[in-house]
Amino acid sequence: MKALVVNCGSSSVKYALFEMDEEQKIAWGLIERIGLPEAYYKRQIINAEEKKEVIKVKNHTEAIELVIEELLDRKAGSITDINEIAVVGHRIVHGGDKFSKSVLVTEEVKKDLKNCFSIAPLHTPAHYAGIVAVEKMLPGIPSVLVFDTAFHQTMPDYAYMYALPYEFYEKDHIRRYGFHGTSHNYVSQRAAKMLGKPLNKLNLITAHLGNGSSITAIEKGRVVDTSMGFTPLQGVVMGTRCGDIDSAIIAYLLDKYSQYKKGSVLNDLLNKKSGLAGISGISGDMRAIIQAVGEGNKRAELAFNMLTYSIKKYIGAYYGILNGVDGLVFTAGIGENSAPVRESVCKNLSVLGIEIDIKKNSECSDEERFISAKKSKVKVMIIPTNEELMIARESKRVC
Ligand code: AMP
Repeated sequence: MKALVVNCGSSSVKYALFEMDEEQKIAWGLIERIGLPEAYYKRQIINAEEKKEVIKVKNHTEAIELVIEELLDRKAGSITDINEIAVVGHRIVHGGDKFSKSVLVTEEVKKDLKNCFSIAPLHTPAHYAGIVAVEKMLPGIPSVLVFDTAFHQTMPDYAYMYALPYEFYEKDHIRRYGFHGTSHNYVSQRAAKMLGKPLNKLNLITAHLGNGSSITAIEKGRVVDTSMGFTPLQGVVMGTRCGDIDSAIIAYLLDKYSQYKKGSVLNDLLNKKSGLAGISGISGDMRAIIQAVGEGNKRAELAFNMLTYSIKKYIGAYYGILNGVDGLVFTAGIGENSAPVRESVCKNLSVLGIEIDIKKNSECSDEERFISAKKSKVKVMIIPTNEELMIARESKRVC
């Protein structure tokens, strides 16, 4: 059977078609800058050359139409009939407290999703548009929603509540939700395979470190805490996001600077101009930061140190709440590729039984692998994440 995975962002659509019998990705691509005069379309079919094009794509409906046309292309397509697609899996960033697991799309589910618009206004309307476009282009083919927040729904209330007046939880559903759940779920399953033990016998800390980063504490297969919160802004220092700050700073900025009275301007400051970019004044991209550190740039060094220090603090805290850890996993762009970040994070953690082998850590590879030293009590692993495959698996399971 084939499963199509669709990821609709505010101005982009990413897709991947899987042959699920072998769990092989057979076609994939992305359309960016939707709604702008020149959209950018890149697509690829397995064993074929990548195609790139600048075109006009007005909205998500047109983008999905393009994707389906491309998949059906008589010369170069990967399917001959839409009915070869058994299920479509949609990545949904925020399920609020309404969705605790993947669900089949029904009219009722669509209505519930619409009620989640206000909680992630940049993402959810785009997801919704994608669902409607898929229904139009692939009538009768089931769609499944897979939520970034779902894996974290096992957190106990004392971990997900904020100590605000209780009515804000009741009325506005303000609580910690956590994100990157599909990735944390995938790598925890892979870690269990690598460690040769069932997931429900393991305690893990998974560090998804990319442009956005989150750390998760997983006790016997169930999330007990995660660093991101009500939105993906909370937690460790990120590329352009500030992570944890004293919330009184917000009130201070609002009172002092008139331009921040508008929520969107303040949101921009915290989400797009902070983190590595805000501290270094150079970039939110870790590669640029590491290069600048090498050239002796002190603010880049400070940004690097702040980021790795904030990750280390979460690892220490989660080690404590888990009362011991079997495995520490690094994943996503930085986690998979940046040896200096991993080395800095794991430095001086031998008291927790976390020790990495510097040589193994510095070797480049696309494979999942151990980087812990022989004597390390905690096994340290690099596991390339695969959120698309996880969504395809979930969709197949649910439909
Ligand atoms: P992601 O959001 O998972 O795509 O990760 C993006 C982040 O990974 C960016 O900060 C990149 O600079 C970082 N990254 C990707 N490759 C490398 C690399 N080889 N070394 C250091 N950072 C990297």
